Amino acid sequence: MKFETLSVHAGRDVERATGAVAPPIQLSTTYERDIDGEWSRGFSYSRADNPGRRPLEECIAALEGGEDATTYGSGSAASMAVFSLLRPGEHVIAPIESYHGTAKQLRDILTPMGVTHTFVDMTRVDAVRDALRKETRLVWIETPSNPMLNISDIETIAELAHGRGAMVCCDNTFATPVWQRPLELGADLVMHSSTKYFGGHSDVMGGAVVTRDRGGLSDKLRDYQQTVGSVPSPFDCWLIRRSLTTLSCRVRAQTHNASRIAGFLQSHKNVERVFYPGLDTHPGHAIAQRQMKGGFGAMLSFNVRGGRDAAFAVAAKMQLFIRATSLGGVESLVEHRASVEGPHTVTPQNLLRLSVGLESAEDLIADLDQALG
Ligand code: PLP
Repeated sequence: MKFETLSVHAGRDVERATGAVAPPIQLSTTYERDIDGEWSRGFSYSRADNPGRRPLEECIAALEGGEDATTYGSGSAASMAVFSLLRPGEHVIAPIESYHGTAKQLRDILTPMGVTHTFVDMTRVDAVRDALRKETRLVWIETPSNPMLNISDIETIAELAHGRGAMVCCDNTFATPVWQRPLELGADLVMHSSTKYFGGHSDVMGGAVVTRDRGGLSDKLRDYQQTVGSVPSPFDCWLIRRSLTTLSCRVRAQTHNASRIAGFLQSHKNVERVFYPGLDTHPGHAIAQRQMKGGFGAMLSFNVRGGRDAAFAVAAKMQLFIRATSLGGVESLVEHRASVEGPHTVTPQNLLRLSVGLESAEDLIADLDQALG
């Protein structure tokens, strides 16, 4: 089945008892045992599994072209689930400008547990090659990256990592499987903050990790999920599963808006530089064209001429773009990333990041024009 069909039907069925087309929300935390002590109906306790989480996991796995997925209470819980696969003495390679929360997990949680890391410029394959050691167990890719929209070559990096016995996880939050399917390019794991495009309406937190196969990594992640218990609530599962039905429509329309906005910003006199992989001036454009299937996503950043104060002044004048963190919702957001990323930030002070929503592109461009003008 094609992507759009899977997004409506994967893991979902008409409810047998009532014929309800929309799935029910099952709040029960505990399930009746059979007389012989078994749970033949498949559910025992909601942390282990529940009737709302299963359809969500099946759908996310199907959309990424994987065999299995585990879901979590946030994207950060999902990245920690991947890091739980590491053991003291092992080493991780990650991009210098990974999502700042992922970098913080490596620095503040994994390092004291004896897992080391090297941050590299992952737009350069030779930088990854140089950083690989015999202890390297994981190469973490984030492409396009947050907030610089840097592009890493998933296929080449996966080949390199596998050649040295390391596994590869790709944070696919920005691209979504609508445009990019890292498992098809050789990644072993795909991670998502479902808070973003999967949820799509800025009203639910979630995370997911998809595996190519069942067994192996998938069993370890399932065990971690059930033991640690950082699971999404039944209502969170319901909201995200519902939003996945419109993922393709939303992401395509938002991407269309973003590419028009990128073109507009590129020609504006008060903009120094635009970071959008769909522009042929973007250094990663050729790789993005190869590994993203016909669209470059709905996130972009730009440098405002005049420095940090000018960037703040532009954001302050915006009427439609809401000044808020996060991304991937139906409403457009603007954010000064350096000020939320803390002391380790490598983001330019005059950079604003846009999460482009579903409003009319004309209205969004008019808003940017008056704010920049
Ligand atoms: N990965 C990326 C690329 C993100 O942008 C974010 C959040 O902004 C995360 C991971 C973390 O997700 P969450 O906020 O759902 O924990």
